[in-house]
Amino acid sequence: MKVFSHSPDMRAWSRQRRQAGARIAFVPTMGFLHEGHLSLIRAARSRADVVIVSIYVNPGQFAAHEDLDAYPRDPEGDREKLRRAGCDALFEPRTLYLAEHQTWLRVEPLEGPLCGKSRPDFFRGVATVVAKLFNLVEPDIAVFGRKDFQQLRVVERMVKDLDFPVEIVGIPLVREPDGLAMSSRNARLSPDQRHRAGAIFRGLSRAEVAFQAGQREAAKLCEQVQAEIQAAGGTLDYVSLVDAETLQSVARVEGPVVMAVAALFGGVRLIDNLEFSEAP
Ligand code: AMP
Repeated sequence: MKVFSHSPDMRAWSRQRRQAGARIAFVPTMGFLHEGHLSLIRAARSRADVVIVSIYVNPGQFAAHEDLDAYPRDPEGDREKLRRAGCDALFEPRTLYLAEHQTWLRVEPLEGPLCGKSRPDFFRGVATVVAKLFNLVEPDIAVFGRKDFQQLRVVERMVKDLDFPVEIVGIPLVREPDGLAMSSRNARLSPDQRHRAGAIFRGLSRAEVAFQAGQREAAKLCEQVQAEIQAAGGTLDYVSLVDAETLQSVARVEGPVVMAVAALFGGVRLIDNLEFSEAP
């Protein structure tokens, strides 16, 4: 596996492979890799000749009070996992921003609801770093997880609006055995918090059961999630039923929707979602 930390080297290698006829797949991550990331890499592998993974904890998407410094890191462990997963090249830049960086992308109104409410500059950081990475790696396709559903929609929109020649692929959310969505941040939970965080998925599952039983009202479905998280001592940031394309909240399930949730356990912010749809 090639490892690049300098942007020009990464670009030169990727271009060379592309000119030799290879189809390039790219998986951007913040490292501390788990099975969710590896499922993205497998999906990339099955769709391209060359798989490039980036590991970069992007300061542009963390607010001053957020967990940039506490974000878990394991460079050696990550390299080993990537080698075993058949990754061809790792892009591990020390920084991607010039000191005088001034250009930020806004994807509006998609970035406004859900996580955008409590993290107002989060998606401008995500969109900007993804655009930079696409310009450096020049992939044919890029693979993202549906766990970060709003991020996936923001990136899809940005690619369409700015004519990036990159196909975006969204891969299903991977869960722990108790249903908790896999996340690098789970490592920051104490055993007790980790146990209690299972309430997020229990709540979503209860909402799904209610939906299967005929409930279509957003408020009633959201109540299920709220109740489980509160009973487990978590702090709900939001739970919202939104249109799967626009991410605007809906009062009733009438087409494809996403029930999206963010909750804190012991100060660790976790997100999750469940997609469901009323048959047309
Ligand atoms: P991160 O390292 O958290 O920035 O995530 C990098 C990529 O992995 C993003 O596209 C995420 O959506 C995806 N990802 C993270 N966790 C999961 C998961 N549990 N299931 C599927 N994809 C995931």
